[in-house]
Amino acid sequence: MSKRVCLVHYHEIGLKGKNRATFENQLVNNLHRALRGHGVETVKRVSGHILVSFASGQATMEEARVISQVPGVARVSLAYLCGLDEAEYCAAAVKALGEAGPFETFKVHARRSSTSYELHTLDIHQLVGGVLCEAYPTKKVRMHDPDVIVYVLVVQGNVYVYAASMVGVGGLPVGTAGKVVTLLSSGFDSPVATWMVGRRGAVCVPVHFSGRPMTADTSEGLCRDIVEALQPAGLIGRLYVVPFGERQREISLAVPQSLRIITYRRVMLAVAERIAQLEGAKALVTGESLGQVASQTLDNIAAVNEIASMPILRPLIGSDKMEIMRRAEQIGTHEISSQSAEDCCTLFMPRRPETHARIDAVHEAWDSFDHDAMIEQLVNAVEYQDFDHCPSYKPPRNMRAWHRELAPAFE
Ligand code: ATP
Ligand code: MG
Repeated sequence: MSKRVCLVHYHEIGLKGKNRATFENQLVNNLHRALRGHGVETVKRVSGHILVSFASGQATMEEARVISQVPGVARVSLAYLCGLDEAEYCAAAVKALGEAGPFETFKVHARRSSTSYELHTLDIHQLVGGVLCEAYPTKKVRMHDPDVIVYVLVVQGNVYVYAASMVGVGGLPVGTAGKVVTLLSSGFDSPVATWMVGRRGAVCVPVHFSGRPMTADTSEGLCRDIVEALQPAGLIGRLYVVPFGERQREISLAVPQSLRIITYRRVMLAVAERIAQLEGAKALVTGESLGQVASQTLDNIAAVNEIASMPILRPLIGSDKMEIMRRAEQIGTHEISSQSAEDCCTLFMPRRPETHARIDAVHEAWDSFDHDAMIEQLVNAVEYQDFDHCPSYKPPRNMRAWHRELAPAFE
């Protein structure tokens, strides 16, 4: 019986010139990590694809599904790995076509890659096509837009045969686009925003502001669950938590009620930027979507934005809630985000938040308390927990200790 392997297809995008080897090596590393525990034998480049083989010799749909979640993977096929023996690869083609789901029409697409094999692609089309016509006498060959294409890929001494493939998440391998700090609440939006930036190749370092000690630590638990749910994408190595409750109380006493949220947000962004500097991250990410809630009007975004000097990425700015919820379902965070938890956002909320903040009023509120001291205090109180999900995550030099549970960064 032929071996079954996973053949990983990636987009040509990002593969040009010097980037190509970096991209491919990173994807190979990330696939190794994602498939830990699946008995992987080899992960290697084969003629514009990545070949994953398993000690069992029999890759399954489950393994293909794991691979499909890794950023950079456009498609993945369960392929039969055959020798150059015609009878063997023709039999594999019959099986592959039989497994591809209901169909009426098909064609064979052969490709030879730097090989000395005597049959040329046209010969292979005829040979395999003839065998398939015999095996499926009621089905028709159709060259233009057939229901199924049976691929026959000849590389060195091997022939890979496959028909069905699973769509992957696309994007670029995590680790090829630098590092970002993402502001993670346990709501629907920020986990999706985090995933989206990770899918473009960034290593993501989430920072969560909790209401502790004024609230329970439920939101922290939900953020941990979100990090675990995003594990298949392999984009997070560490979660930071900032206990913000006491400082929020101070802010709520110092600034006009209507400007509380904006002021909390400015402090959050300033602290996140400090963590980003420690981490060597080059941008911040939020889950904001224009006009979704009071704090996300253009005036308010501007009033908060000015506090940071790093770029702030808002991947969901033009998405609507339904799209975001659908994506949350796909990436497995929807159910977690539907559980309500008190976090710092529910604490000391004003009855009527400002929707169009005047910048001079915001500055006056900002100067009414010692914001620098507060930011410093919050950075020093930061806690973190490590996750073994992201091979490209490198912790800052002065925070190398591995914390299995949430623990203070600086004692
Ligand atoms: P989300 O669904 O991500 O919570 P939201 O619709 O509730 O977003 P806001 O509460 O205005 O909107 O939050 C806007 C963004 O600010 C969030 O997407 C997130 O990036 C950041 N943010 C909000 N609360 C927190 C928090 N407690 N910790 C860290 N970041 C937060
Ligand atoms: Mg929220």
